[in-house]
Amino acid sequence: MHVEGLLRNKGAEVVTVEGSTTVADALQTMATRRVGALVVSADGSAVDGIVSERDVVWGLADRGAGLLGETVATIMTRDVVTCGMATTVDQLSTMMTEGRMRHVPVVVDGALAGIVSIGDVVKDRLRELEAETQSLHEYISHGR
Ligand code: AMP
Repeated sequence: MHVEGLLRNKGAEVVTVEGSTTVADALQTMATRRVGALVVSADGSAVDGIVSERDVVWGLADRGAGLLGETVATIMTRDVVTCGMATTVDQLSTMMTEGRMRHVPVVVDGALAGIVSIGDVVKDRLRELEAETQSLHEYISHGR
């Protein structure tokens, strides 16, 4: 399966915030939209950075509660690892494992086209394993 297939199932929507958004507002957005990371973008298309719940936890441990009034630009990761529509789920697994990240934005022609999370990758792997198990059962029971 490729990223294109994953997005066909989950849709292309990406929750974004501007770099000037406060950490408190970003947390509110994560909570109401039920996501663990936000792409930081000034125009909703170019990827300026990514901020995840982990950045908030690390920032709070480092700077204390005052962090909530600061902007996401102060804690976001600027060097964002992205993928394209042709990236495979296996490649995504490697990227996420080696980079220790659970979110990878999808970029097509320089524009944000979706986001995949480790949950999407695990879901696809489970689907694949179930299909394999099913065909092995059929082979064992009916020889085909
Ligand atoms: P996560 O596991 O996605 O919650 O993020 C863990 C750390 O990796 C945080 O510092 C994120 O800002 C960063 N991060 C998340 N996704 C990416 C990405 N696609 N590229 C680079 N850094 C990322």
